[in-house]
Amino acid sequence: MSAGKRRDLVVVGGGVVGLGAAREAARRGLGVTLVEKGHPAREASWAAAGMLSPFSEAVEEGPFLDFGLASLELWPDWVGALEAETGRSVAYRESGKVRVALSAGEEERLQARIPWAQGRGLAVHWLDSEGLREFEPRLSKAARGGLLVERDFHVDNRRLGSALEEGAHRAGVEIRAGTAAREVHSRKGRVVGVELEDGTSISTPRVLVAAGAWSAGIGGLPRPLPIRPIRGQMLALAPASLPSPRLLESEEVYLVPREDGRLLVGATVEEVGFQPGVTGEGVQALLEGALRLVPELGKAPLIELWSGFRPGSEDGNPILGPDPDLEGLFLATGHFRNGILLAPLTALILGALMAGETAPPIPTPFLPARTRVPARSG
Ligand SMILES: Cc1cc2nc3c(=O)[nH]c(=O)nc-3n(C[C@H](O)[C@H](O)[C@H](O)COP(=O)(O)OP(=O)(O)OC[C@H]3O[C@@H](n4cnc5c(N)ncnc54)[C@H](O)[C@@H]3O)c2cc1C
Repeated sequence: MSAGKRRDLVVVGGGVVGLGAAREAARRGLGVTLVEKGHPAREASWAAAGMLSPFSEAVEEGPFLDFGLASLELWPDWVGALEAETGRSVAYRESGKVRVALSAGEEERLQARIPWAQGRGLAVHWLDSEGLREFEPRLSKAARGGLLVERDFHVDNRRLGSALEEGAHRAGVEIRAGTAAREVHSRKGRVVGVELEDGTSISTPRVLVAAGAWSAGIGGLPRPLPIRPIRGQMLALAPASLPSPRLLESEEVYLVPREDGRLLVGATVEEVGFQPGVTGEGVQALLEGALRLVPELGKAPLIELWSGFRPGSEDGNPILGPDPDLEGLFLATGHFRNGILLAPLTALILGALMAGETAPPIPTPFLPARTRVPARSG
């Protein structure tokens, strides 16, 4: 291993999580190097649909909903600053979402969410079948009703990734693309550096592991990180005109409009390890779901197919914050289906903590301490 230069912080992983945190730390005065094994923002952060949906993604009230709503609050200022400093638009849209019930069961499950949403002051409204068709005339006649969620938004995550790369660069982050981090080095319980696949090393007192679905593969951590890849397949249609400016969602699929006229259809959720690509079954499920929602999409050209690996944790929550067993090690991974939504708050918290500043609190269920293996008794 050749001796390397010294940096205040090395960030491992250049998705939206790593880029966002690196930019934030650099803006707070740290000398930051970000190491990316491939190209920045070309993995899950590129493959995603870009929905910012704390309410729809929350299965119940709790820390995920609170954290998601807090992150959503940051979005306007966060993208405003990013767009101003980079001169790029990321197509952030406060569109709202309609969650459509295609069966009696779906209707019941959606209506059951209304009391707890309204109890939290979230703007949701039930539309009966007639009201729904007036509001969204191109939906299937089978739609029984729908829940209008005013504060579910979306962003073009591919544009966001490019803008964040540029923003991190402008903030002074050195981006080393095409080199994987192999191992975190420590001495006497403190981080001292990172060894890269190319045999070089970087001396640093702080490392942030933000390697998405690959986070478990980084060596030298106090314990294996319980992160696994969860494949998501998606496709894009090019309808003559978009069915709605809003997000549309059933229990099978969601439809996301893009500024260039594409309509994204997502997404499968599959435990197949790091097996890349799209499958006949996956595409069939997505197309059938899309056509059940908006039948006229059957005429739309199918123009793109892709997949990506979500970073899944055991409990579905992100793993965030300083590691309790290795000083100088920070973790920001396991964002599963919501890393785009949670990117601003993750960046703000990690950026501040790594710079030694006061940060918004991390919910206890998200802290790295929960990944410790309990000691065996007897
Ligand atoms: C199909 C699909 C749809 C999704 N839709 C949404 C959505 O609508 N809304 C939402 O909020 N989220 C969505 N997500 C989830 C979201 O994409 C992820 O949670 C988020 O992108 C995670 O960001 P990340 O930076 O942690 O991971 P990634 O974007 O995967 O970035 C991790 C980076 O680390 C790099 N890396 C890995 N190992 C190393 C190493 N050893 N050394 C150096 N670099 C390394 C990788 O090359 C990669 O670039 C979706 C995901 C998928 C797959």
